[in-house]
Order: sequence, then C-alpha cells, then structure tokens
Amino acid sequence: MKRPIAIIGGSGVKSILKGNQKILGTPYGPTPSLTIGEVDSRPAVFLPRHGENHSSPPHKVNYRANIWGLKSLGVERIMATNAVGAIDQQLSPGEIVVPSDLVDMTKSRIGTFYESSPVTHIDVSQPYCPKVREVLTASTAATGRSPPREVVMACTEGPRYETPAEIRMLRTMGCGIVGMTGAPEAFLARELEMCYASISFVSNMAAGLQRTLSAREVEEKGHETSQVLNKILTGAIAKIPESRKDCPCGTALAHAQLRKEETQEIA
Ligand SMILES: [Zn+2]
Repeated sequence: MKRPIAIIGGSGVKSILKGNQKILGTPYGPTPSLTIGEVDSRPAVFLPRHGENHSSPPHKVNYRANIWGLKSLGVERIMATNAVGAIDQQLSPGEIVVPSDLVDMTKSRIGTFYESSPVTHIDVSQPYCPKVREVLTASTAATGRSPPREVVMACTEGPRYETPAEIRMLRTMGCGIVGMTGAPEAFLARELEMCYASISFVSNMAAGLQRTLSAREVEEKGHETSQVLNKILTGAIAKIPESRKDCPCGTALAHAQLRKEETQEIA
C-alpha cells in the first residue's frame, strides 16, 4: 500500500482532505482526531496540531504523540503549516515562506523520543527535508509567488508574543520569521526518520515592527491565506515522489546512536 503523506496544520487546511476521522493511541497519549483519506487519489492524512477546536496552545501541543501517531500510520513525509511573524522587513503579511533552517527557543517542551538508552544524537545539519522543501517551493512558485530561498525560523515558547527586544535579538541571530510551533516538531520527525518541511504564512510583522500584535489578526490572515495554502499543498502532494531517494532523512539514525563500548568510555 502507498504510504500516506501527512499535513499538520490549522483547521483552514483541513478542507483539502475528505476522509475518515480517527484518534490514535500512542505511548505519549492520544493524537487529535486525524482525517485519513486521499488528495487527488494519493493517500493523505491531516493532523490538526492544536486539536479539533484549537484547544491546545503551542506550548501544550503533544508533539510526540502527533509525530508518533503519524509514523504508526506509515507516514514518511510531512508538510507542516505555521503562522509566523516577519522579522525580516523584506517580508510582509500574506507572504508564504518555506523556511530553510530553525532556531529552537522553546523552554518547556520535551524535544526528543530518546530520553534514555540508546543515547541518540541526530544530525540536523539540514533540519528540513531538502526534497520536501524543493517540492513546496516549486508548488508555491506555481501560484505566482517567489518564496525567498533561505529563511531562518525562530520557534519561541509562547503562548505570549515576543517582546521588541526579543525580536531584535532574533534578528541579530539571523532569524527572518518567528512562530511558536516549528520545534520540536521538526526534530521529532527526524528522530523517527521521517521527511519533514514547513510552509509558513506571514500573518503579521513581529513585535516592534507594527503597533500591536493581535491573535484575531493572525486568525484572520490565516483564513485569508488558507485558500492559497491549500492550493500549494495539493500541488505539492501530487509532486512528491513515491519513494524516498533524494534526501538523507530515511537513514537519520544510522550514525546517530552511540555503540555500547562508546557509551561505556564516555561514562
Ligand atoms: Zn527527506
């Protein structure tokens, strides 16, 4: 059977997929209600990151259950949508970005599946799957947009927005956009050798670059952008190759785990 392609995102994106609802049990707790179906006759699954009624704030999302649940369905490729604020003033609200790198500024989230033996250090030299990024970028370009090639996303803890000083710090660190849901999701997917890339829509300018920030504004921009996001994701699902061979994600664990004798030496 063909492996389903997963989309993680908000409720606006759900409409591209019709199918059965299913809640999966995982060692980390249940997933939200997933929609399992097809997009243009390719198997696909939609996972509402914040739960059915947007009830989990970003710092309380059960990222491990979500990624584990998708893995247990046989998913190998994930496309994740995020609402972000623009730190880079070349960007403006409504733009679509395919981030190239990620700075994890979260504080309270469990960021790994490997909390004990075997000690595992995955390589995130390319935190996003290069192949899924390429497909998402091409699908975005097909809508007449020109997404920037390199944009670093900062993931903050939330649920509050950032302060202007935090945004200045993130800009100094090279971050172009800021959101609250990129990490540890991307890293957990890599730990389970899944391909993962993000597609982010700019909902507002970051703190200090516009007068105030409002959750309502972010929500409204999400609704505005959801049609184009749906188009990009539908196009991308059609173009993702059936099998993985152009990216390193599927063998992420090959050199990530210490051999037993190394563990003893380090100890
Ligand atoms: Zn990959």
